[in-house]
Amino acid sequence: MDGDNKELSAIGQALAILGDRWVLLILQRAFLRRIRTFAGWRDELGTSESVLATRLKELVGHGIFELAAYRDGRTRYEYRLTARGLGLWSLLVAIHSWERDWADRAHLPPLMHDLCGDEAQPYLACGACRKPMSARDTHTEQGPLASFERVGLPRRHRRTVRPEARPDMIGYCPDSMEILGDRWSTTLLAAAFLGTRRFVDFQSRLGIAPSVLTDRLRRFVELGVFASGGDGSYRLTDKGLAFFEVFAFLVDWAQRELPAPEGSALTITHRPCGAELEPVLLCTACGEPLARREVRFALLPSVEHGH
Ligand SMILES: [Zn+2]
Ligand SMILES: [Zn+2]
Repeated sequence: MDGDNKELSAIGQALAILGDRWVLLILQRAFLRRIRTFAGWRDELGTSESVLATRLKELVGHGIFELAAYRDGRTRYEYRLTARGLGLWSLLVAIHSWERDWADRAHLPPLMHDLCGDEAQPYLACGACRKPMSARDTHTEQGPLASFERVGLPRRHRRTVRPEARPDMIGYCPDSMEILGDRWSTTLLAAAFLGTRRFVDFQSRLGIAPSVLTDRLRRFVELGVFASGGDGSYRLTDKGLAFFEVFAFLVDWAQRELPAPEGSALTITHRPCGAELEPVLLCTACGEPLARREVRFALLPSVEHGH
């Protein structure tokens, strides 16, 4: 599996691993519901066994889960998040937070901060200066080999499945899944964060087929992530700009965890303080960083199994 991706930048590899709706749902349920077993995900997501088996095998191969034996009368196995896997927690929280704020998913369960006892309403901040951080006050340097070409390599099984929208209230994030669950879409958004605006520039920068580009741009306009300038140019809307919160954690995780060719990195700096990207999520109520063990989703038992 890894063999396909050796020449990709860390971000390209991360998208190759995470750019799949089933993978995002598997991870989300692992964090949100502490699901650890094959049967657990199958029952929770209604995934076919072959699809689930393939995804879990890949995630183990990428070092995100590890198979661990435990005793329950006889020896059984469960999938445990590794340190690398646990590092995706902030990314998943950022997705949740963006969906609540921007994608009209106010019914998503609030995130409670045990440290202060309030609803966290996380916001993205710079780990160095603790000031709020947005796409607008960052500066990005692209390494000489930080090319987006080849990121959109087709997965072997990418066209075979499309999870049915099973709007189960607890954590289905359709807009994020649409952006992150398709590598071209994520790459398109990344290029926009780096200042690309025109159709022809997206095309040459991404090495994307015009028909695919047209399709993705149309979906982004429908999602309200891009606005069309009508002259072949597109700009990020506020909703699109806010997705930087998700993007920042994706970049951070990828570049910390995945080995990549020299010169293929993005260097993102927080302009007000000059520090390199070190995204943190802070609690709106108390201003403290949100640690994985100090927050929980306020899941209501009555809506947990609504289907
Ligand atoms: Zn800063
Ligand atoms: Zn707090």
